[in-house]
Amino acid sequence: TRTQDEEQLPHATKRTMADHLRRFETLFTLTPQRMRIIVSSFKETLETGLDKPDQTVPMIPTFVFGWPSGNEKGEFLAIDLGGTNLRVCLLNLQGNGKFEITQSKYRLSEEQKQDDGQKLFDFCVDCLKLFIEANSGEDGILQLVPGQKIPLGFTFSYPCKQDKIDHGILIRWTKGFGSPNTEGKNVAEMFREALSKHDLPVELTALINDTTGTLIASRYVNPTTKIACIFGTGCNAAYMEHVKDIPKIKHLGIDGDQDMAINCEWGAFDSFEHEHLPRTKYDIIIDESSNKPGEQAFEKLISGRYLGEIVRLIICELIDEGVLFLGQNTYKLEVPNAFDTALLSLMESDPTDELLMIIGLFSHFFALETTLAERQFLRAIARLVGRRAARLSACGIASIVEKMGYIEEGCSVGADGSLYNKYPGFAERIHEGLVDIFGERGRNIVTHHAEDGSGVGSAIIAAMTKERKAAGIY
Ligand code: BGC
Ligand code: MG
Repeated sequence: TRTQDEEQLPHATKRTMADHLRRFETLFTLTPQRMRIIVSSFKETLETGLDKPDQTVPMIPTFVFGWPSGNEKGEFLAIDLGGTNLRVCLLNLQGNGKFEITQSKYRLSEEQKQDDGQKLFDFCVDCLKLFIEANSGEDGILQLVPGQKIPLGFTFSYPCKQDKIDHGILIRWTKGFGSPNTEGKNVAEMFREALSKHDLPVELTALINDTTGTLIASRYVNPTTKIACIFGTGCNAAYMEHVKDIPKIKHLGIDGDQDMAINCEWGAFDSFEHEHLPRTKYDIIIDESSNKPGEQAFEKLISGRYLGEIVRLIICELIDEGVLFLGQNTYKLEVPNAFDTALLSLMESDPTDELLMIIGLFSHFFALETTLAERQFLRAIARLVGRRAARLSACGIASIVEKMGYIEEGCSVGADGSLYNKYPGFAERIHEGLVDIFGERGRNIVTHHAEDGSGVGSAIIAAMTKERKAAGIY
């Protein structure tokens, strides 16, 4: 039953919605000054990660040495275990930055992400086997020569500590994965174990992070690339560092004049201590109800796995306060993760004055009717959350740019991931953020869509590894 006061709410709704909006604007807006402060602590964190082993932002040496020449050639297989799908690719590198690709995708279930680790790798190899069977044979594109093994690059997009390229100890699962018996283990070995159960003409040559693959693949087609980022289910970056500037690997005695790609694992920035990033109470709820509280603090403010949930928590609070959807049954919205980040993209891209697409979305997915004022409000919330994610992403990019001194000469940032590719205005907002941080010089840093980093990139890296091995510099 309703009290008299609540009865009058619909009348007062318009005014209070504007008030609420102002409240959220204050919470979610990052000023240029605040951004610059974040960049400066971020840059220090990157430096500490290169200096000392086992830091929260681990700055992982990848053992990918230098840029591709563009002349890498041959046939390679690639497996990409991402946050959502498993992909198997066959790549034919033709030199001159040209390649052909054939691929298949297999959906990963939520159960598989929590199931025993070895089973996950067994599944990868089962899919690889299916793929090879489907593409070889008489008129298949894969012409197998008896006794020959095809080099395979395994893109495994989780933080792994490497001491060579075909080896990697999983530091921690991210993006909601939780398979037991995997953290602290050499996942390349677990993959080989799975391979050994079949007789496949394949040899694992490189274990690669998706950002490293994206860095190398972007450079293969665009020689101004210096940084690569993923903005998808998770979020991270890689760049090329001078070996002499990675003090923590000095003891390995690697020639300091070489360059090596660094997988930053920047999603972990500000984890545990939470002293640099502007977390709202919604961000804290998401963190505390995640399977890894305290971890991936930066990623949780940015990546596609979480943005929809942030908006859902805000909506639920306003339902409780009697501001939104008065008198309607909102149970469908009250389910955790019911609000996919893809819905935010759609809400932001509604081109109509009446916001007709948003009407459709709410009635279709949540059986809710919306007033125009509610729709405008919801879209404004989506915009705030999406914009904050892009501006924080700009802070991450800026910290690498500052550290490496790239601002004057400028550089390209190869970027990939569902958020970057599908969220309307995400790239523009990153670029605006860079101008807010650096002033006009910020325009020297330009992101561009990187075509298939984890497939093409891992093939190129497998090729580079083969060449180094053949030349005896392993
Ligand atoms: C992982 C990174 C990965 C990123 C993007 C993060 O959760 O820790 O290794 O690069 O997601 O896929
Ligand atoms: Mg991916």
